[in-house]
Amino acid sequence: MKHVVVLGGGVGGTLAANLIARKLKRAIARGEAKVTVVDGTGEHAYQPGYMYIAMGNERPERLHRPERSLLDGNVELLVETIERIDPATSLVTMASGAKVHFDQLVIATGCRILPGEIKDFETEAYHFYTPGASARLRKALDAFKGGKIVIGIAGIPYKCPPAPLEVAFLIEAELRARGLRDSTQLTFLSPINRAFTIESVSDMATPIFAEKGIELQLLAGVDSIDAERKVVITDAMEEYPYDLLICVPPHKGVQAMIDSGLAPKSGWLPTDRHTLQVKHLVPANTPDAEVPRYPNIHALGDATDLPLSKAGSTAHFEAPIVAERVSSLVMGREPEGKDARYTGKVMCFFEVGDGKGTLLQFDYEHPPRPPKPNQLWHLGKMVFNKTYWHTVPRGRV
Ligand SMILES: Cc1cc2nc3c(=O)[nH]c(=O)nc-3n(C[C@H](O)[C@H](O)[C@H](O)COP(=O)(O)OP(=O)(O)OC[C@H]3O[C@@H](n4cnc5c(N)ncnc54)[C@H](O)[C@@H]3O)c2cc1C
Repeated sequence: MKHVVVLGGGVGGTLAANLIARKLKRAIARGEAKVTVVDGTGEHAYQPGYMYIAMGNERPERLHRPERSLLDGNVELLVETIERIDPATSLVTMASGAKVHFDQLVIATGCRILPGEIKDFETEAYHFYTPGASARLRKALDAFKGGKIVIGIAGIPYKCPPAPLEVAFLIEAELRARGLRDSTQLTFLSPINRAFTIESVSDMATPIFAEKGIELQLLAGVDSIDAERKVVITDAMEEYPYDLLICVPPHKGVQAMIDSGLAPKSGWLPTDRHTLQVKHLVPANTPDAEVPRYPNIHALGDATDLPLSKAGSTAHFEAPIVAERVSSLVMGREPEGKDARYTGKVMCFFEVGDGKGTLLQFDYEHPPRPPKPNQLWHLGKMVFNKTYWHTVPRGRV
């Protein structure tokens, strides 16, 4: 009996487990294979909806469902917190002390947000990375009567790179509708030397900041907050006063990956860009071709160190590759077809406010060429948000 263990029941883990179970259907029926998902909560979250709680048009209860309800009947679910992985013995140890043996391991544990890493972040800054934080931001926006709003980012990478830009554009539109635009100064602090990491997207977004009168400051990553003086301080030591501070919190990979010696202090798992196999931790200057890969450990989604958006869409397009590779290993054949190698495919909607959006579609070889924002792509995102539960995790799109 070959045991495929999938760690994490988010977008990547759920979809990968369902696709693997589908590919191994006969082996599972014969009792030769078994697929188990391990998740600490047993709940699946649709995180892109969190942003809309802050924008006033989403409810937290619509963004969570029991993980069991999304899994193929052939996938077992274990609700346990993963504490350690030992590749040498092929064992995963849980916080409860339970141990699970794997033949094939898929790591899809996503990432952590760490607002506590910046002093006074939790009391001074608002964000939209959890349902509770997003509801708190909504309340602050409702109470806002004009002044200085600063939107910043405390470290790269973070989940959904377009999200803080979308929030800036959506808030600008809201303030206009509420008659507060003239009495509000909006400032966006980009941590890099342009508005967005990918140049073509930056070229699309920069004029939108100008059109909407949002001050765009470059090389202005959020470093610290002076709560007494109500100023945010960037890593270039510049100060920006705020009445309302919205900031993407620092992100890291999960602690269990660091504790297991699989990931460096950042927590991001070194991952092969095409096979999605986890690579051994080696000194930084080791040529990539010389870095050994764990033959039976794959990773996908936010957990990896791949230079791609930390997005559900990335996990969505990686999952078929993980499923093909893992099931072929179980069945003792070579991975085949279009899913044998990951090409870096990602596809994300990008809201620009006023009922308009655009689409970012790219892979390792082809940067995005976002179409001029229009109503269609905004509607596309709305439809995607509504239909998510019936499509992505179940492998229907
Ligand atoms: C505000 C916001 C807006 C976003 N907007 C978009 C968008 O528009 N488009 C887009 O594509 N993406 C968007 N994203 C990003 C997207 O939600 C994530 O990239 C995606 O969820 C990553 O999938 P994953 O499977 O890697 O991790 P997750 O979906 O985060 O799942 C990880 C799972 O692992 C479990 N886990 C973690 N650690 C442990 C442990 N130690 N033990 C047991 N279980 C554990 C967690 O409980 C969780 O269920 C957004 C995210 C946020 C927060």
